[in-house]
Amino acid sequence: MAFELKPLPYDPASLEPYISATTMNLHHDKHLATYVTNLNKLIEGTPLASKSLEEIILTAAGDPEKTAVFNNAGQAYNHELFWSCLSAQGGGAPSGELAERIDAAFGSVDKFKDEFKTAALGQFGSGWAWLVLDKGELKITKTSNADLPLAHGQSALFGLDVWEHAYYVDYQNRRADYVQAVLDRLINWSFVAENLKKAV
Ligand code: MN
Repeated sequence: MAFELKPLPYDPASLEPYISATTMNLHHDKHLATYVTNLNKLIEGTPLASKSLEEIILTAAGDPEKTAVFNNAGQAYNHELFWSCLSAQGGGAPSGELAERIDAAFGSVDKFKDEFKTAALGQFGSGWAWLVLDKGELKITKTSNADLPLAHGQSALFGLDVWEHAYYVDYQNRRADYVQAVLDRLINWSFVAENLKKAV
């Protein structure tokens, strides 16, 4: 069964002025569409064609002959998560258990944001910054290219795309401003809290 390109879960203009409809449309209709198309081509007629995206990622992780499969499957998975990590009603502060755990792990939401921003800016070249649950502990991590927490035994709670295609049209080289806007205005804390609930 070939994977389908699912539509964005909201109007691509809804994240303006922080992320433009132009960026969201390019990101979904061109970048993600290409990953899904390439993944389908790579797995067609192979034993992977009947597997879930998660199974494909775990099978391809660390197998040098399956780098292209890993990259396209990883990016398909990461973007699905990423869309839901953003919301026009996002920003503000987390609540409940998530807020308690963020305070315990990082000291405060502001300290979490500072640490997350450092990771996102410290990712050299293309990749992702993450809030993960790793053996019961909240951690901030970063990965290159398509690499993702799932391949490292971690659960992704929040993922931020820091490939240039995610922000260049709106922010040019100012990755810091993009990261700050997402953390202050778009982060979908209720989705992050749902991911925490599923992961514990
Ligand atoms: Mn992307």
